[in-house]
Amino acid sequence: MRKEIAAANWKMNCTVTQAEALIDDLMAQEHHLNAHCIVVLGIPYPYLVMAQERLHGKDSYYVAAQNMHHEENGAYTGEISAGMLNSIGVDYVILGHSERREYFGETNEMIAKKINLAIQYGLAPIFCCGEPLAIREAGTQNEYVTKQMEESIFHLSPSQIRGMAVAYEPVWAIGTGKTATEEQAQEMHLHLRGIIATKYGTEIANTISILYGGSVKASNAKSLFGQHDVDGGLVGGASLVAADFGSIIDALKKDPAL
Ligand code: PEP
Repeated sequence: MRKEIAAANWKMNCTVTQAEALIDDLMAQEHHLNAHCIVVLGIPYPYLVMAQERLHGKDSYYVAAQNMHHEENGAYTGEISAGMLNSIGVDYVILGHSERREYFGETNEMIAKKINLAIQYGLAPIFCCGEPLAIREAGTQNEYVTKQMEESIFHLSPSQIRGMAVAYEPVWAIGTGKTATEEQAQEMHLHLRGIIATKYGTEIANTISILYGGSVKASNAKSLFGQHDVDGGLVGGASLVAADFGSIIDALKKDPAL
């Protein structure tokens, strides 16, 4: 059974006091999560250890880094490696976010290297893909996203890709308040699962959690996550408000077969 995931991406927000308060507010909430549902908090590097301490003993809650470097170690001043994240016990890492691609020049090739290192160091990658507005307007989004998948994760072996998380995040919907319709999300998620099935087989494709990201809010999470191939979401802005993110956690599908 694949996981349903409510993943937060705090981006470059919060002081330590705000981060502690946000985690404490989230931990004070009651969510009756089914066994296949998990919550992943993608938070800034300086707060990872603090967050892990606060999440300690909370089943179904995990911490994620928002990025890591594509080389294993060396003279890369200011960077963070997969080995460092592994050494402090981080579980997940968000890789290939469109903001990293746009502002930091990350290419599919660099992201493929990051994916390999993440797996080598026991970190579960949340691989982000998604098309910019011009591509959506040209109607070539499926081809665009297929290329991102092929060049970044389709070199993995069946055992490496099994159970992995992919986040489909149309760039035109990130931080814009403009959400993909549930039909647009389902259509793309079905396409993604289809190309995974063509390469790795249906059984493996059905183990991959495909999250939707792009202006997910408390008000639209239920209809988006209710789509058959939408296995939760990667949430930016709304994850900074504990009550809103709590509603988004509650919107995870109770029965993934639906
Ligand atoms: C994101 O950062 O991955 C994201 C989807 O942001 P937002 O929810 O704010 O659109």
